[in-house]
Amino acid sequence: MVPIRFRSRSFILASLLLTATALPASAQTAPIRQVPGVYHQAIGEVRVTALFDGVVPLARAELSGIDDAGKQALLASRHVPETPQGLQTAVNAYLVQRGDVLTLVDAGTARCFGPGLGHVLENLRSAGYSPEQVDQVLITHAHPDHLCGLLDGQGHEAFPKATVWLARADADYWLDPKTETRADTRAAFRPLFKMARDAVAPYQAGGRLRLFARGERLPEGVSGLDSPGHTPGHTSFLFDAGAGQQLLVWGDIVHYHAVQFSRPDASFEADLDRGLAIASRRALMARVADGGWWLAGAHLPFPGLGHVRRDDDAFAWVPAEFSPLPGEQ
Ligand SMILES: [Zn+2]
Repeated sequence: MVPIRFRSRSFILASLLLTATALPASAQTAPIRQVPGVYHQAIGEVRVTALFDGVVPLARAELSGIDDAGKQALLASRHVPETPQGLQTAVNAYLVQRGDVLTLVDAGTARCFGPGLGHVLENLRSAGYSPEQVDQVLITHAHPDHLCGLLDGQGHEAFPKATVWLARADADYWLDPKTETRADTRAAFRPLFKMARDAVAPYQAGGRLRLFARGERLPEGVSGLDSPGHTPGHTSFLFDAGAGQQLLVWGDIVHYHAVQFSRPDASFEADLDRGLAIASRRALMARVADGGWWLAGAHLPFPGLGHVRRDDDAFAWVPAEFSPLPGEQ
């Protein structure tokens, strides 16, 4: 409260303006939504569109290979949002348009991770595309946050024209019921096997699931970079964007962006083979940094597009600047 004698004309005017510009009651009670989770980036002759699926919390305790003080220093320096459930971690998919060919890399969680996620399809539509237009879906690995989105909300195939590409090594592991019941398979992984089988089932039945071996040809303009560790067949996809530019969509090479660029030897508990995952992470970071490649990361803060630079004997993440598209008025 302000005593009446101190209320100047400007104070009263400001109060009137505040009253006049207060939100209408209807706006205050409307559901709170962010803007659509979509971001376009022109790279050479392609356009990549980042599609936001949602965020998942990852616990600090699931980050190993670094002591608590080191973790805390890096997380605090980046102000990573955190709830009691864990550190905010984005789930992103990427649509690459070259001419009239549309290639989706990963498809999000759909219904597998519950409410709050599963927004890839709706964001694809917000970006001006329809799922029927997608020609191919490249899956970095057979985890639910990357392939459950092959199905729509009713459990039908979401991309009726698309061929789905998955590394044979991941299919051999995650689609095989025998792996699911093996004694050495971690209990936490057991629900993931059925999710993977269900997600690819309609594509498999329609003869549109292509399993590829290491070094095998992928759709034109795309190379698969073998990057195992998180899963046996984890593959990152390198797009030749033309005009001397390259784009790497790398899947689950980094889960804790605030930590793992400066400490690539820090591992996520869910990595099946941590030693291999560390080697893949170091190798890809070096190639992206030294090649000046564009990078798109499934679990980097949305839109997860940018570059990597060397930083002493480790690396740093360089997010892209918001940029207009060429020809935009
Ligand atoms: Zn993932």
